[in-house]
This record gives sequence, C-alpha cells and structure tokens, in this order.
Amino acid sequence: MKYISTRGSAPSLSFEEVVLTGLASDGGLYVPETLPQFSHSDIEAMRGMSYQELAFTVMKPFVADALSDDELKGLIAKAYSTFRHNGIAPLVQTGHNEFILELFQGPTLAFKDFALQFLGQLLDHILKKRNQKVVVMGATSGDTGSAAIEGCRHCDNIDIFILHPHQRVSEVQRRQMTTVLDDNVHNIALEGNFDDCQNMVKASFADQSFLPDGRQLVAVNSINWARIMAQIVYYFYAALSLGAPARAVNFSVPTGNFGDIFAGYLAKGMGLPIDQLIIATNQNDILHRCISENDHSKRDLVHSLSPSMDIMVSSNFERLLFDLYDRNGASIVTLMDALKNGGGMTLGEAELAKAKTLFSSFRLDDAEMVKVIKDVFEQTEYLLDPHTAIGLEAGRRARHDHNTPMVCLATAHPAKFPEAIQKAGLSDAPLPHHMADLFEREERYQVLSNDMDAVQKFIGSHLRT
Ligand SMILES: *Cc1c(COP(=O)(O)O)cnc(C)c1O
Repeated sequence: MKYISTRGSAPSLSFEEVVLTGLASDGGLYVPETLPQFSHSDIEAMRGMSYQELAFTVMKPFVADALSDDELKGLIAKAYSTFRHNGIAPLVQTGHNEFILELFQGPTLAFKDFALQFLGQLLDHILKKRNQKVVVMGATSGDTGSAAIEGCRHCDNIDIFILHPHQRVSEVQRRQMTTVLDDNVHNIALEGNFDDCQNMVKASFADQSFLPDGRQLVAVNSINWARIMAQIVYYFYAALSLGAPARAVNFSVPTGNFGDIFAGYLAKGMGLPIDQLIIATNQNDILHRCISENDHSKRDLVHSLSPSMDIMVSSNFERLLFDLYDRNGASIVTLMDALKNGGGMTLGEAELAKAKTLFSSFRLDDAEMVKVIKDVFEQTEYLLDPHTAIGLEAGRRARHDHNTPMVCLATAHPAKFPEAIQKAGLSDAPLPHHMADLFEREERYQVLSNDMDAVQKFIGSHLRT
C-alpha cells in the first residue's frame, strides 16, 4: 500500500515512512492511494470477532507487507491490554434504537487512547527494526498530551516532550500528564498560552538542528495516518454488534479536528453499511456552517465547556476535500491558499452537494449542551460528558429514520469535565478506580519561559542515549 499527499506534489510513501512523517513536504496530508474494500460476505465473516481480531482484519490491508500477521497481532494485543473494560468499546442503550459507544475505557479516559495506545506500540516496533531513536514533541491544551504520554511511556526508542500552557489546563488534565514518572516522559509547562506552545512545536519541526545527529522529531497529532486507521475499527465493531452488514447504522460524532468522523467516512467507503454520518459541533462550528451553508470561514475561537472540540479550522477536513475534488491536488492547493490568505474557502456546487449526501451536521452551544446532560441524567441516570452530550443531541436532531440505529460516539468520561456536570446541577462523576488516587500522586514537570532556546536546550539535555 502506497500513501499519497492531498496536495499532489510530495513523493508517495510506504506505510512505515508515513507513520514517521507528519505533514507531507508539499504541506498536504497523506492518504492511502486506494481504499481497501470489504464485501457483504467479508463483513458477515467479521461477526462475533473480538475487538482485537477485528482490528487485525480491518487494519491489515492498510499495513500490507510492512508488518507480518504475527507482528500486527502482537501490537494490537499490547495496545488494547491497557483498556480496563473487556469489551474495549462497549455499547450502552439510551433510547429506542439509540446507543452510546463508550470510547473512554482506555488509560486516559478519552477516545484518543484508541489511536495513541496503538501508535506508541507501532512506532516503537518500527524504530527497533530500523535501530533508530526519535523524539516525540507535541503541544496540548488537554486530552492529546496525556493520551500521547500514555502511548509512549513504555517505548524504549522514544523520548517524549509535551508542552502545555502553565496554569491553563485543568488539574485532572495536568495530573494525567505530570504523574507519569517514566524517565523518557517530560512535561514542559510553558509560561504562555496554547498558541505559544503550538508555535514552539511548529518552529522546532521546521528547524531540527537543535537535536543531535541521527535524531528526528515525530508528530503524534491527529494528522498522523496511523491514528485515523486505528479509529476505523470501532465503527465496524459497533455496526456489527447492531446487525451489520444486514442492517445499516447511523453515527453521530463529536467533532473537532475531523479525524474521528473521517475514520467513519473511510469505514463507509470500505463497505460498511453506514447511512448517516452526523458532524456534531459546539459554538466553534466551521464544519456545520460549511456543510449547511457553504461558509467555511475562520472565526475567533470561543472557549466552550467542551474544550476538546474548540478548534478554529479542522485539519483533517483536507483529507475529505481531496476526495470531494476527485483527488485533484491542484484544487486542494487553491482551496487551502484561499483559507490561509483570505480567511475562508467556498466549495464548488457539485462538491458541496457531494458533501451533503455524505454528512449531516448539527451545532449546540453550551447552554443547550448542559440541558442535554441534565435531561438525559434525569431520564436514564446515565451521565454524559459535554462532548458526548453534543453528539447525542445532534444525532437526535439530525437523524432521518428511527428504524436505523443511531450510535453516538462517547469521546470522554464525564469525570474529565466536571465544570459542565456542575453547571447541569449534578454531582461530579467519580474517577474510575485506577485513577482514584490521582490527586495524591507525585507530579514532575518543568516550568519554562516562553523562549525557544530554553525549551530546545531542555530537550537536548534530557534525551536518553
Ligand atoms: C479530540 C476530541 C474530540 C474531537 O475529535 P476529532 O478527531 O479532533 O474530531 C472530541 N471529544 C473529545 C473528548 C476529544 O478528546
């Protein structure tokens, strides 16, 4: 399997290369050259598979010869052994033909563990084979950092440095990062805001000369192809549980960077009978505006009670645009230039029509979301996290057909976001057992000024040999 760039001029890469590469050299994102296909009977044969067996079957064609069957199975087994629920991605019913897919059973209580537990194993395996060591560097405003740290903490060939804005992440989120004391894990609390962190990371990727010879930076943000690939699996898992391939299923997805729902789009393209894919957004609604009124213009970022969806522009949307424009890289360059230089882009009529047949969308603000948490708890005693509440309500409002099961992806555990729960007048969800002592654990992090030299010196002097 070869991977090609959405902007058409970067070289195509192998699976192994694409896992170690962030952005393509032409500024685009990598996608597989062809999408593997599963027939009706192929999907029937998946019924009854465990999550791990299904992950192997769904991911194998993307990986092709880069890993042997046993190697891939081994990586999957290790990645999902850290999940505390044996179902890995259990389904809970909340109404007639309405289900929540709990994707928060991993070590950091958010769906990002599905991708990052696997990516950590995969990177370490590839690096050992190549006898190479790398540095993972990333900026976080919350969920990504802890999931990346948990994914990489046991990796012999990775040193990981995560920057978060000092005193601007929640205490749960900080402690999930800073109480990991492995000697290859380094948290930097930068005296600045999230943008300062991100700019520091971007500049470091652009000029890596501060690293010793032979070391390179690797990105584990949601543009990494392996993350998307690992997320395709749970769409198959949920749909099969609810009667696929004989019966179609709808999905509603709390959306930020468009990585999670893009995986659902790929699952559908591979043959899984998905009827509706619903993009659920908060006040930062660029995708909802784009699908509903062809308005893909940047607006100021609003800080909402669902912070993991607070995104001005969704980076993975470019991967969808590439398909909408019949994989013409030049069209994508034109669109992205307009977005960068003019603050927005307008889709062609035919492309917008295509997007509308593929996706529905719905937007909720904080007050509407809080009411959903409250109402659902009153009716079912099920406590939703704020991101999931947006997804569930969007699914209810946007679905066409009540005979088709609607699955809302639960992207985080409610204990991670106590503010929204309190606003709904409910008492906080307790942290699960394995984290009950989070507030007593020892922390380790380094506060650094917003100064490139200081950060890069810190990194240089903390690499393992
Ligand atoms: C990252 C995240 C999202 C958004 O997912 P995307 O793949 O960026 O669209 C939604 N909810 C939670 C809790 C998250 O951590």
